[in-house]
Amino acid sequence: MSARELVVLGTASQVPTRHRNHNGYLLRWDGEGILFDPGEGTQRQMLRAGVAVHDLNRICVTHFHGDHSLGLAGVIQRINLDKVPHEITAHYPRSGQRFFDRLRYATAYRETVALTEAPVDTDGPLARTPGYTLEARKLSHPVEAYGYRLVEPDGRRMLPGRLAAHGIKGPDVGRIQREGTLGGVPLEEVSEVRRGQRFAFVMDTRLCDGVYALAEGCDMLVIESTFLDEDEALAVDFGHLTAGQAARVARDAGVRHLVLTHFSQRYADPEEFERQARAAGYEGELTVARDLQRVALPKRR
Ligand SMILES: [Zn+2]
Repeated sequence: MSARELVVLGTASQVPTRHRNHNGYLLRWDGEGILFDPGEGTQRQMLRAGVAVHDLNRICVTHFHGDHSLGLAGVIQRINLDKVPHEITAHYPRSGQRFFDRLRYATAYRETVALTEAPVDTDGPLARTPGYTLEARKLSHPVEAYGYRLVEPDGRRMLPGRLAAHGIKGPDVGRIQREGTLGGVPLEEVSEVRRGQRFAFVMDTRLCDGVYALAEGCDMLVIESTFLDEDEALAVDFGHLTAGQAARVARDAGVRHLVLTHFSQRYADPEEFERQARAAGYEGELTVARDLQRVALPKRR
């Protein structure tokens, strides 16, 4: 199992189909699990995908339309039923607090777990861990929506040839990493920047500044493409994207792996999303998401 991967739980927009559940996406990021937009049926999709509630550390909801949030009731109750021993944090638009309250307490159950509510009401960082900073950006949709972005801090990759040339070995390697210099040799001389990985989740929006900011330089971008390009007028009206719009964002942002999802039930042929994304000039890795698919983050450059 890859240490960093996307597990796709559902890929339908408004209406689930025989082959597509409502939304749901688990991002595995080293030891952590972040569940995005659990729609109806997410609990069962998790079972089918081999994801347990113990795998969850965070839940991020972009907005309170049912296809992105009705699964909260079931997932939260299951977290409590299974007595998950660690804290779980939930992020969602603060303007939808009343919806979150209703979903959290939709029916009677015994509350056993610390679920921390951390609502979002502004652009910017939400959480910092050693592995990533989680940020939010406002989107443009009929109800308030925020997209999410994980940015791993840049690190340094030691260069064995340079270390040897300077006679640095054994415990001295750790020393120069900690202290930034050793015997007059700066760390930069024997190492190079290892760029941190970036992931963004952009759901239910028309084109806006937030979309571009979230996508910028991402190793993986999961983005809605509810409509095909011929229905762009509908997309703008309802606050959604087309395949071509999403792909142009990814192209301009230098995205390495584009994952399209959240498809309207009106389209029979998923390959048309791929054709339109390619026609828009996106040349990186491309996945037209299917339920229960696993997509590994691209290898580090
Ligand atoms: Zn939606």
